[in-house]
Amino acid sequence: MVTIAVTAEGPDEPRVAVSPETVKKLAALGATVKVQSGAGARARFSDDALKAAGAEIAASAAETLSGADILLKVRRPSAEEIGQLKSGAMVAAILEPYDKAAMDSLATTGASLFSMEFMPRISRAQSMDVLSSQANLAGYKAVVDAASQFGQALPMMMTAAGTVPAAKIFIMGVGVAGLQAIATARRLGAVVSATDVRPATKEQVASLGAKFVAVEDDEFKQAQTAAGYAKAMSAEYQAKQAELISNHIKLQDIVITTALIPGRPAPRLITRAMVESMKPGSVIVDLAAERGGNCEATVPGQTVDVGGVKIIGPINLAGSVPVNASSLYAKNLYAFLELFFDKKEKVLNVNWDDEIIKGTLIAKDGKVVHPNLVSQPAA
Ligand code: NAD
Repeated sequence: MVTIAVTAEGPDEPRVAVSPETVKKLAALGATVKVQSGAGARARFSDDALKAAGAEIAASAAETLSGADILLKVRRPSAEEIGQLKSGAMVAAILEPYDKAAMDSLATTGASLFSMEFMPRISRAQSMDVLSSQANLAGYKAVVDAASQFGQALPMMMTAAGTVPAAKIFIMGVGVAGLQAIATARRLGAVVSATDVRPATKEQVASLGAKFVAVEDDEFKQAQTAAGYAKAMSAEYQAKQAELISNHIKLQDIVITTALIPGRPAPRLITRAMVESMKPGSVIVDLAAERGGNCEATVPGQTVDVGGVKIIGPINLAGSVPVNASSLYAKNLYAFLELFFDKKEKVLNVNWDDEIIKGTLIAKDGKVVHPNLVSQPAA
């Protein structure tokens, strides 16, 4: 029998790696799921609900981990936690794998470590795509948080006492989070515009009823990589983009920034001078805060005031909707784990050559093995 352990996350992480729904599904694959008592509480999955779905509830982390074959977490577990699993066990979590020293240290446990952020963006892996499931919720929550901090209403309202104007919301970066931010802002009745450097986003923005604002030169036409991400833009492009944005941003009430480039600091799109040009009472939510911020004035984890403009630098915004974020994350993990099981025999049968398994495997047999993390020998 394969045993899957789910321990409680730290105080700053309200999400959990399992839900009553996935406990049932994992049991159907032939696994026993052991959950540390209280681990699901902040996602509103009570011990009773998890137990009713078929989980064993263990009193402590040590009891949960002891003898388990697989550990599922939201955040990176400690080497001490992994050390209590069966030798050669598997771990799947949001590992933040670019911290090479941390990966080297976890690798020494001998466990097979899988980083959910490295999920290949192929159609077969869509149901396992943690970045998408969490970014979608973050995009939604950014608009809701901005609306609650904005001292005005979002939709236009024509009342007997007078007309309330519609708020203007500008979304910078139209990936998964940005698209959901546009959709949410539109549902709340704002007048929405958006920008990106990838040409494919132009049509997506229009189809959601928002206005596309971008420097559409030759470089823009080439800005998307084969993997579907943005390239870092030239200094010349950035200057043209800054001029366009500085004219647009001073007319906006709310700005949501989501621009990222894989493996690099977030691009700087809003200068302090641009913030100062905005009306007092305006709100900026910088979803790139954790990666250095798209706005020069952002302080990660804090809300700052620059001339009456509030700049919110949220960390783990998906974690502020922990019920949905946990349900979707747990489903991502389940879809991933399905690959590891022989469904007929109800045992583990791992195909180490599978593109998804290879793409997410960070370390195995004591060593870091992922090509993005192993330094190439000099030619
Ligand atoms: P991301 O989080 O890496 O970046 C967010 C957005 O910021 C991107 O749209 C990017 O183009 C934009 N950006 C980067 N630099 C910018 C700049 N200087 N100015 C303005 N915008 C800038 O992106 P993501 O949300 O992970 O999505 C990336 C792509 O992957 C999208 O095309 C998305 O639809 C696609 N996707 C595919 C799959 C799949 O096939 N399984 C799953 C999810 C996403």
